[in-house]
Amino acid sequence: MRKFTLWLRRLSAPHRRATRAQLLLVVVAPAAIVAAVGAATLALAHSAAERDARVTRTLELTRTLADLRIRVTDAQTAERGYALTGADRYLAPYRGAAVDAAHDLSVMRILLGADSVGRRRVDTLARLARAEFAVVDHATNIRSQNALGRALTAMEGEDAMTAIRQAVSDLDRDERAHLSALQNAARRQRALVVSAIIVSTGCAVLLALLSNGVLSVLVARRDQAVAALHEANRAKSDFLSTVSHELRTPLNAIGGYAELMVMGLHGPVTDEQREDLRRIRRAGQHLLALITDILSYAKLESGRVEMRVEDIALDEILRGAGAMIEPQARAKGVSYRYIPCDPGSVVHGDRDKVRQIVLNLLSNAVKFTDAGGEVTLGVDPDAAPVRVVVRDTGCGIAPDKLESIFEPFVQVGRRLSTASEGVGLGLAISRALAYAMGGDLTVTSRPGQGSTFMLTLRPV
Ligand code: ADP
Repeated sequence: MRKFTLWLRRLSAPHRRATRAQLLLVVVAPAAIVAAVGAATLALAHSAAERDARVTRTLELTRTLADLRIRVTDAQTAERGYALTGADRYLAPYRGAAVDAAHDLSVMRILLGADSVGRRRVDTLARLARAEFAVVDHATNIRSQNALGRALTAMEGEDAMTAIRQAVSDLDRDERAHLSALQNAARRQRALVVSAIIVSTGCAVLLALLSNGVLSVLVARRDQAVAALHEANRAKSDFLSTVSHELRTPLNAIGGYAELMVMGLHGPVTDEQREDLRRIRRAGQHLLALITDILSYAKLESGRVEMRVEDIALDEILRGAGAMIEPQARAKGVSYRYIPCDPGSVVHGDRDKVRQIVLNLLSNAVKFTDAGGEVTLGVDPDAAPVRVVVRDTGCGIAPDKLESIFEPFVQVGRRLSTASEGVGLGLAISRALAYAMGGDLTVTSRPGQGSTFMLTLRPV
């Protein structure tokens, strides 16, 4: 029997075979590549933005430098024209040139930021420009007193303009070198970005193809597994129905003939023989019950159970089930109590299946409760949807077994081969029936103190 039940369990085990390597390929690898490409692109975009800002700053600087050079030259030219002619109109470009040049220089300082070499050059330039403007001012003042000769002499002093031109072209050269370095870097980066795009697109296409291939294989395998499972399920159900039928017929015959002999139809039997015959009948009935359980479970698993769902009055079903179990409880010394439920309590379900579940729960409760204990049946008045409750004060169930007892062929603390009743299918069948009716079957328990099974049913 044990081998047989193990074989059944193996057949009903779901097919879960997605390997780690496949998961790695389909999920982790693409995610890692996308993350790496994303990080690289982000870094490139960041450095490109920085470089663009530096290019803009360098261009602004060279433009300001050109402005400065024009201002100084204009001022000097204006001053020369004025010195030679004494005409005021020559002084127009000269007026305000010193202030504008100072402004240009402070703009350059800001643009150069932390560039210490550049800032030093700007300081030199500022000093030279101040000196040149001082010379121009001085010469203009002298000329305004009509002293042409002295003005020309003042102008011929040390020519700061050459130094200014030198400083400006130094700064200009530096900035142009800077600009060309930045442009080279931009070209390299552009090439890098294009390669990154090409490589990542290639990777993405490759991965998409690969993932598609892997997924197709997985789907095909799953389909095969599902088909194999259906086939195995069908074969199992057919096998069980045949075996059950083949077993039931001789078993019924054994029971029937034993009954005839007990009744003395084939001659007198002694008391010992009668007792033995009763044992044969009981064993036969037990075997029949087991076969019925196995058959029901097989039918449920292959989805071949018919449900006749209708509105049913609970009170009548519960009373009926209780009445069937009460003699068994009394014989064992267990007290049975039914807490009458609202007579108007109606649920949506299959009458026979609800009765079957409640009977199974009650017979378990009596089975696992010692003499002196109590079994109660009732409906939780506070629960919505409707909940039938079977409570006992029996041995209880260990917390780690609370879910496994609903699996087929699981019996806690009993060996299959020595079981006097059941094979551990009652709860599996009951829960499957509850699910099929849109309900649920759950349990709470405290070892040594008892268990409470709750059957939830769909309200009308
Ligand atoms: P069976 O009764 O044939 O063993 P079930 O599926 O009905 O099979 O129950 C599975 C197991 O759950 C039982 O063997 C028992 O260990 C445990 N169990 C069920 N009902 C109770 C209960 N009321 N009290 C304690 N244990 C229970």
